[in-house]
Amino acid sequence: MTNNELDLTKANYGTVKELEYALAVLPWGATEPHNLHLPYTTDSILAQALSVDAADAVKKRANIGCMVLPPITLGSQNPGQWSLPFCIHTRYETQKAILTDIVSSLYRQGLRKLIIVNGHGGNAFKNMVRDLAYDYPDFTLATAIWFCVDPATYFEAADDHAGELETSVMMHYHPELVNLEDAGAGTSKDFALESLRNKTGWIPRDWSKASIDTGIGCPYLATSSKGAAYASACVHQLSLLFEEIATKAIY
Ligand SMILES: [Zn+2]
Repeated sequence: MTNNELDLTKANYGTVKELEYALAVLPWGATEPHNLHLPYTTDSILAQALSVDAADAVKKRANIGCMVLPPITLGSQNPGQWSLPFCIHTRYETQKAILTDIVSSLYRQGLRKLIIVNGHGGNAFKNMVRDLAYDYPDFTLATAIWFCVDPATYFEAADDHAGELETSVMMHYHPELVNLEDAGAGTSKDFALESLRNKTGWIPRDWSKASIDTGIGCPYLATSSKGAAYASACVHQLSLLFEEIATKAIY
């Protein structure tokens, strides 16, 4: 199976109708600034890239077809991002309507399994998954994030947004989309309140106060080889998830 058979941004009906698919995969990102050096759609680009590699691994290992749907680029954003040019804040209701239409379309076609591969920390799908499990009890809907492996042993510093991790993985998949010489330092400022810093309470961070360049984490540490190693570990984990959901009973 080539990427033209498991990546719906490239596949055609003539090919797809001759093949069998056990599940669909939905990469989901956002449209938001990523420091000064990464594309607005970084989260969906990476979620899609790792999903396609994981689907390819499942095909090679177990001969199971997983179709990676075109990525959704509409994410939930924080205060301080909303007024930045071309940042698109997408409400829970909008995201749920999109997801519901995708599930109902797949259901009508006879498919019964979908895995969301999220690439954006602001997105939260668990309650949508619960609601859709209520409405479609014989449909398996799961949610995952692409950065599903502990990054601690792969990177020098912990980061959050457009830092060493995302920049490295983007350098691995799409070096032509990384302008590292333009990157800001990604220095961040935490809440003043101790009870918010220690996570007793939660409110969304105001991005204009938390970061100068919209990044949180140092991109200067990024290399494509770090990105390749981390992506490979995450792809392996995702491929195991895809294969298990495709082939085994949940309980
Ligand atoms: Zn991101």
